[in-house]
Amino acid sequence: MPSHPEISYAGVSLPWKTEMKYLGFIFSKTNQNNINIKYLRTKARRKINALKSIAYKTYGPRTKDLISIANNSICNLFFYNCSTINKWSATHLHICDVIQTTALRTAMGLPIWTPNIILLKLAAQETLSRKIQRLATQFFLKHIAYGAHSPLYRNDGTSSVKLTNKDSSALEQILSAFNVDINHIIKFPITLDCLNIKCKIHTHSFLFQDKSLPKTTIESLFEDTIRTHFSNFFLIATDASKSQQITSIAGTSSTNSFAYRLQHLNTIFSAEAMALCQALDELPNDEDNLLLLTDSLSVLQAFANLSIKSNKIILRLAAKIATREKFHQNIVLLWTPGHAGIKWNEKVDNLARRVSESDLSIQWVTVEDIITQLKAHAENQTDAAYRGSKYYATLGDIPSIQTIAPWLKNRREDIIIARIISRMIVTPALLHRFGLNDNPLCSMCKCDNSIEHILLYCRKYSLIRQALCHRLHVYLDGTSTFKSFLSIICASQHAIRAFFSLLKFFDIC
Ligand SMILES: [Zn+2]
Repeated sequence: MPSHPEISYAGVSLPWKTEMKYLGFIFSKTNQNNINIKYLRTKARRKINALKSIAYKTYGPRTKDLISIANNSICNLFFYNCSTINKWSATHLHICDVIQTTALRTAMGLPIWTPNIILLKLAAQETLSRKIQRLATQFFLKHIAYGAHSPLYRNDGTSSVKLTNKDSSALEQILSAFNVDINHIIKFPITLDCLNIKCKIHTHSFLFQDKSLPKTTIESLFEDTIRTHFSNFFLIATDASKSQQITSIAGTSSTNSFAYRLQHLNTIFSAEAMALCQALDELPNDEDNLLLLTDSLSVLQAFANLSIKSNKIILRLAAKIATREKFHQNIVLLWTPGHAGIKWNEKVDNLARRVSESDLSIQWVTVEDIITQLKAHAENQTDAAYRGSKYYATLGDIPSIQTIAPWLKNRREDIIIARIISRMIVTPALLHRFGLNDNPLCSMCKCDNSIEHILLYCRKYSLIRQALCHRLHVYLDGTSTFKSFLSIICASQHAIRAFFSLLKFFDIC
């Protein structure tokens, strides 16, 4: 007898299930997380086995491509539902990390005992559990930017996107680290009128719009263009500036100007677009025709390709223009080559540059720029974890496999270099460490027969070592370290090729 009540509709009893799968996620009556992790793990294991079958030791796909496969077909199993998985317990998230390191080890041809920190650094990857959390943050940020258009939006008086307590406090923490207020994230326009604006954009319509011309020519051609085409237009010039400490914008017209500091997270692209937005807010009066000058070609190009998928700041600019079009007959955006002597540009450039810490600041920031920062931060974390580990002292700043891949010829070399860098190449000392060899000592020098010993110190190979030093114009002696040796051979294509041409004489592979 089933333990649930019989449910029927119009005389037909409905099928009863304790769990159902929807969009690749299992919804269950009991212990949903356990069931999902088991399901994803089984799927991932099957894919790792498939990866093993193409990750040959000597030929076949290159390591960098296998790392891409590990990411795009195994780790990505966890990305789709990142907004739920990010709330898994530490134990469950640890299972994700184990799956990632197993896949990467297979991809790189490294043995099981390779430390994870070295593995991730060599493959230039962030920890999977951290990546899941970052992707979830990005997902929520995007929905905050969609605002009323987001399916997560709840109009219960708060007019905001509803997140679980756990998610919203995590998000708050991240945003406050970046000094961003959640209410200052630029949102998608409320209506989509802005996709049908009439304003004209000129990036290459006039003779002066050519950076290769001499400065004086650009200047006089510009004056001519204004006289002949825009004599009845009200001119507004905008510019943005970004230094190490300050991001700023400025705008000017014949009657007025402004200059503000921006939230420093903004890229120069966002800042240039924000300068245009601010100019539309502050500078026009009741003129019939507006001519907006900017030296940012990328903003105008993005604007010319306006769509629902455009950067939020470009959509905001479009919305501002859509509003302005009700008051002005013509609005024209004109690209002016920067630093070409056009006096409007010079004036507004100066205004933007003069902005200091104490000036009035605008807090708006785009989701796109926050996400860029999150990614940069994730890369720094992988490096910081490696630098903080005990391996940094012996190995130093090791390159990623992707950066040295162009200098290597095939999968076999990919594996050898990964094993040498991680000190995982098979030597008597390494075998002894794992109980696979009785004698860890070098027969000639009577000391530990490790990879350092063979490459740097062993008397048996002194002639080969001399040949290598000669080719690389370096000097190695008994005090040289493995760290400096690695940095020498990974420094250039020439060095790595010289090393490979002599490697066979060292009897290690
Ligand atoms: Zn020796």
